Amino acid sequence: MQRAFGAGGPAVSVIGQGSWYIEQGDRREAIAALKRGLDLGLTHIDTAEMYGDGRSEAIIGEAIAGRRDEAFLVSKVLPHNASRQGVRAACERSLRQLKTDRLDCYLLHWRGPHPLAETFAAFEALKQEGKVLSWGVSNFDEDDLDEALEAAGKGRIACNQVLYHLRERAIEHAVIPWCERNGIAVTAYSPFGHDDFPESGSAQGRLLAEIAAAHGATARQVALAFLTRRASVFAIPKAGRTAHVEENAGALELVLTAEQIARIDAAFPLGRKPHSLPMI
Ligand code: NAP
Repeated sequence: MQRAFGAGGPAVSVIGQGSWYIEQGDRREAIAALKRGLDLGLTHIDTAEMYGDGRSEAIIGEAIAGRRDEAFLVSKVLPHNASRQGVRAACERSLRQLKTDRLDCYLLHWRGPHPLAETFAAFEALKQEGKVLSWGVSNFDEDDLDEALEAAGKGRIACNQVLYHLRERAIEHAVIPWCERNGIAVTAYSPFGHDDFPESGSAQGRLLAEIAAAHGATARQVALAFLTRRASVFAIPKAGRTAHVEENAGALELVLTAEQIARIDAAFPLGRKPHSLPMI
């Protein structure tokens, strides 16, 4: 399943492929897994200059060789590189690692020392040149988003990439509603809790398994379907193994019933709004 990446944005796969630490596994297997993901429609591929100091980008560059047009490619600039000149240099390094001439979306990884207006002016300049087709932010809370909108103006910010999994639903309080009001895509990172997925023997795990069985699906597929139940949200699980990618792709067409959503909501309580946005 694909949906618009923010208001007026391109159609992008609801489930994608993350790549943090992908360089630490078997390289050939990681490339095969990414390619298999592309075959199965997991075309939203996420990386960052930070991941393995560019080695994650290089692996993705190999995986998408000859298939660049199939991918919606996202990378991120580190906050300390996000000056006017630094953004350009970082973007050009990322393009070289990825062996491409453009990013579909370029994100500020989290807020840092450089004024947002300066970073965003650099993003806009890259957009004018066609080196990035859209840009956005990551780990931005509601007040950061207010400032970002003020600095950028309406209709410029494509995405906010934030932590979101069954046991960490803080963005539902204010960040998702803010992004929906402003036509900004929300990308859920660490959708399996960065490998903290409910044990199958636990009460939470048993509930996921029961709902999964009703769909001939798996617990992880149910989790991905729950996280992407709103039309604004995309998820980017990282999988360095082909079998995991195949399982994750099985969530692309899974739609939960309202009753199933309510049961998951009760089993993984939203909790109170935290003082600051959780991130990892
Ligand atoms: P995650 O996607 O929640 O979990 C990754 C772990 O789940 C890996 O150990 C992976 O194993 C395993 N896994 C994946 N599919 C599986 C399956 N079907 N069955 C069993 N295990 C499975 O964690 P994450 O990597 O932290 O988050 C995803 C992506 O979000 C990152 O890779 C990165 O691209 C992005 N991210 C962004 C930020 C940010 O600040 N913007 C922060 C964190 C993450 P294998 O690798 O062995 O397959």
